[in-house]
Amino acid sequence: MLKKENIDLILSVKKMTSKVYFGSLQHGKPNRFASLGAKYEKILELIDFSTIEKKDKVAIKMHLGFNDGYQTVPVFFVRKLVQAIKKTGGVPFVTDNPTAVYNAVNRGYTEETCGCPIIPVAGIKDGYTYTKKVDFKGVKSVDLAGVLHDADVLINFAHAKGHGLPGFGGVIKNIALGGFAAKTRWNKIHGVVHYDKYWDADKCTPEHAKKLVESCPEKCINYKEDKHELKVGFYNCNQCMKCIEADEGVGSLEIKQENCDAFQEFQAIAAKLVLDTFDKKKIFNFNVALQITAFCDCMGMPQPIVVNEIGILASKDTVAIEQATLDLIKKEGLLESSIPPFLNNVQIKPELHPFQQLFGHFKDPYKTVQYAEKLGMGTSKYELVEVLSPEETAKMEPPKERYESEPTFF
Ligand code: SF4
Repeated sequence: MLKKENIDLILSVKKMTSKVYFGSLQHGKPNRFASLGAKYEKILELIDFSTIEKKDKVAIKMHLGFNDGYQTVPVFFVRKLVQAIKKTGGVPFVTDNPTAVYNAVNRGYTEETCGCPIIPVAGIKDGYTYTKKVDFKGVKSVDLAGVLHDADVLINFAHAKGHGLPGFGGVIKNIALGGFAAKTRWNKIHGVVHYDKYWDADKCTPEHAKKLVESCPEKCINYKEDKHELKVGFYNCNQCMKCIEADEGVGSLEIKQENCDAFQEFQAIAAKLVLDTFDKKKIFNFNVALQITAFCDCMGMPQPIVVNEIGILASKDTVAIEQATLDLIKKEGLLESSIPPFLNNVQIKPELHPFQQLFGHFKDPYKTVQYAEKLGMGTSKYELVEVLSPEETAKMEPPKERYESEPTFF
């Protein structure tokens, strides 16, 4: 028999664990009841929207893509989500950056298809913001997107995919970058990688700087001779260290983990600023792990799927869902035949996460999750609750279904 202190310990560990609901794309029977559409409906019940109050303004923060980038969250899932929110009496709207909103129709998102309005996250000129003080690597303030700030409920509805800088984009990145005006996103959050010194101007002559530029196969070293200023584009840097070989004997350049980590840490800080504007009970997170591409939706182009499609995850805990999604992607591994040929230095090593294998070992996607956990945004300990698993549905009797043998509107 278990001692009382052991029972207490088990209960306290269980308490610290967050539930992550998961519906897999795989199905145990070739019937609707066993497939992702039905699983998603079940997840929408289990996530429990009962904390949404009548007339609450419900922001569905998405990435609506750009140009030809259609591999975002299918509108099918948005519409079902909107219907579920409307049942609570809440007033949903989809939101993203102004550019993505203005051309969202090209990728199938309209008020008619989604079932609710689509509103730019920081107003029509990206200028409706709330300035928040921060103190991180030289950044003193950030401009939080006003429309998201004003909402009562946050549905953090993210597409799970890769990203050249933090390795991964899921629910944390969806609000960390997507929850701010463009100048904060690009100049401050992306720009933070240059804060920790990695190049010594005094040790490097203009001629040597040009040699460093030439040494990079990825063309990610930029040198401005008039300013005698060298910058590394960390987004494309795969840590091949060819530049460090070219720098031998001079020692003016370093490619360091901390420059990549700065972006990951800032993502966590920025995401927390967004979460802090909401009542904890009114935050819901979804990672749609379908069409898992190497690069972000903002690239605006169709891309090969580099990890098999997994399914949909949902949780009230922003950290737990991100950890669970990364774990499922790691378990799935890379589809090696789909790796884009222009990605050099890809390292297929089991100890690396698939997105580290693609983008280099400094770009460990778990880092953002660790920073977020340290900031108290949730726990990385989770209980994965799989709904209607293939094993479960394989044993179930399918309901009688009607197929359309002739035009009908049943
Ligand atoms: S490590 Fe490789 S990819 Fe990165 S800047 Fe140096 S040469 Fe370019």
